[in-house]
Amino acid sequence: MARIVQKFGGTSVADIERIRAVAVRVKAEVDAGNEVAVVVSAMAGVTNQLVGYVEEVATLYDAREYDSVVATGEQVTSGLLALVLQQMGVEARSWLGWQIPIHTDGAHGKARISRIDADEMDQRLKKGHVAVVPGFQGLGPDNRITTLGRGGSDTSAVALAAALGADRCDIYTDVDGVYTTDPRIVPAARKLDKITYEEMLEMASVGAKVLQTRAVEMAMKYGQRLQVLSSFSDEPGTLVVDEDEIVEQELVSGIAYSRDEAKITLVKVRDKPGVAAAIFGPLADASINVDMIVQNVSDDGRATDLTFTVTMNDLDRAVATIESFRDDLGYEDLVHDSKVVKISVIGVGMRSHAGVAQQMFQTLAEKGINIQVISTSEIKVSVLVEEEYTELAVRALHTAYGLDAE
Ligand code: ASP
Ligand code: MG
Repeated sequence: MARIVQKFGGTSVADIERIRAVAVRVKAEVDAGNEVAVVVSAMAGVTNQLVGYVEEVATLYDAREYDSVVATGEQVTSGLLALVLQQMGVEARSWLGWQIPIHTDGAHGKARISRIDADEMDQRLKKGHVAVVPGFQGLGPDNRITTLGRGGSDTSAVALAAALGADRCDIYTDVDGVYTTDPRIVPAARKLDKITYEEMLEMASVGAKVLQTRAVEMAMKYGQRLQVLSSFSDEPGTLVVDEDEIVEQELVSGIAYSRDEAKITLVKVRDKPGVAAAIFGPLADASINVDMIVQNVSDDGRATDLTFTVTMNDLDRAVATIESFRDDLGYEDLVHDSKVVKISVIGVGMRSHAGVAQQMFQTLAEKGINIQVISTSEIKVSVLVEEEYTELAVRALHTAYGLDAE
């Protein structure tokens, strides 16, 4: 007997027929003698629709009300799945975020889970009852509903798995695993049997939307093994595991890209101590994540350009925030550009091998693609390039690193 958390994404619960198919998978685990908690997303498209309603009402909205609107999608699917399970003779009930409760911080719209009191659920699971939990939602310190950021149901599932001491956390989605790159762009992309938490983290953070970044962070922190698999096939998926579980490590495991980037340049910012802090402080206070940053040395020792990237979502707020500090910062101009893409090559193997970055630059150069910003980490090299080169760049790199399927 095992304790399992199963998570089903939006396409897996897109309509009643699919919810019934999900129920069949849940029942199969119950019949096999396992204890099961299920985390569900909203029906495909529903969250977008809800976000759309909010944006129709207001552009700079109250995030607490945003949360109370967008959290409803998951509530619908959890109730429906519990009903279908009951009809199939499975004892099941829904547990909303506040009923468990799943405590989060107060960062509405992208809250972090701080604590889950899973005792009562633990008792029910032991009795063989199935818990159906709407992903994406929690309870903030202000006693109001919070949401965990787009794709947050993955995080709900991993957090719940960790809190319940689950043996497995299976993330069912519409792809059958994690690929070396997006198969829609590169038909020769290959499915990986295993990937490390760290690589998955980098893949997720740069746009491989299979798993939400925070979900992977949390899995890594708690050593929670994950499996990403399809709810539309019975093939094994990709296991996300610790590095020592992977015997033969490739140099580069994947190429990821993110179109969700926007570049902001402050032209002629004063070149003196404290300026970077003055710019990034207010952005951090506004919970805006800044990713890539480049700053040049000024030739005259007085003014320099500073470029950084934020997600598209945060662009308007980032610009508004910077502009409200314009007098203190004393820059000459602010320009932004959202027609950019961040492309990354990822692999834990590059820790012990030189030349990975060089191969990337060379490959892009051969295609005549100009690199605007570069950033690196221990296991990743990222470049920002013009968006129209996305496909060309990803394909060329996939081939260059020998990732194409035979
Ligand atoms: N429904 C939410 C979203 O689309 C959360 C999720 O599905 O993970 O972002
Ligand atoms: Mg998702």
